[in-house]
Amino acid sequence: MIDVCNIQVMKPLLAEHGFHFSKAKGQNFLIARWVPERIAEDAGVNSTAGVLEIGPGIGPLTQQLCLRAGKVCAVELDTRLKPILDLTVGEFSNLEILWDDVLKQDVAALVKEKFAGLRPMACANLPYYITSPILTALLEAKCFESVTVMVQKEVAQRIAAKPGTADYSAFTVFCQYYAEPEILFDVPAGCFLPQPKVTSAVITLRVRKALPWQIDDEEIFFRTVRSSFAMRRKTLQNGLAAGFPALGKDGTGEVIAACGLSAAVRGERLDIPAFAAVANEIARRLKK
Ligand code: SAM
Repeated sequence: MIDVCNIQVMKPLLAEHGFHFSKAKGQNFLIARWVPERIAEDAGVNSTAGVLEIGPGIGPLTQQLCLRAGKVCAVELDTRLKPILDLTVGEFSNLEILWDDVLKQDVAALVKEKFAGLRPMACANLPYYITSPILTALLEAKCFESVTVMVQKEVAQRIAAKPGTADYSAFTVFCQYYAEPEILFDVPAGCFLPQPKVTSAVITLRVRKALPWQIDDEEIFFRTVRSSFAMRRKTLQNGLAAGFPALGKDGTGEVIAACGLSAAVRGERLDIPAFAAVANEIARRLKK
């Protein structure tokens, strides 16, 4: 197996194929083998797993996934990588590569078609310019057991944030609604070529099998969350009044009181059960 993380091997391989990194495609390739090894290990990839990889690049994580998984399906946008991947991962019979944009995939249909009988997982060193849309698509597909990805450290902190902290955001609630996040380890910028300007972290999201909250209307729940964070410095009441003009300021004040919350509370203080209570109360009043 070609040691693609060894810079003495990687540089001539890229030069031989006239490959130049594309910043626009978020190409920062791993040059420290412990990183893909640990991602595959910590994600719990074994022969019962079907793994969707996003952006294999020249294959460092792909190799580690293929050594462990029942099947790997990798989606890569940059077709210039084809001859290189043929050399670095061509030997694996449990690998299929789709040359396309991951954001154009019907992820749930893909998983159903490729991973029958296997435990579906997603693993990736993500292209950072599309971290949020990719995570949104992976979680909304509702078909993975877990999603284990490398992201910017500050994004990992945002995903795992607790209510009332500066990192807590609408994206935090979105991710924690679908999954339980755990930051696994940091990855210094020196582990990549070219080096990114930021520190990275690997985070795993264990997808919830069943939601532990009663949420009567998902659309109203997410609108409640978005409008609560839209004006961070304002009160929950002002945020909700802007997000639900049909209720007006008085109506949103009544909702907040009915949920036993203080009139001065800010949205960023609410945990998911509190957002669920507010959203259910709004749904009840809008349907009257
Ligand atoms: N997995 C490799 C590694 O760890 O060295 C490469 C990771 S690099 C951060 C991100 C990869 O995602 C690149 O190979 C890039 O070409 C690919 N990529 C970028 N946008 C993509 C998209 N929309 N769909 C699929 N792959 C994409």
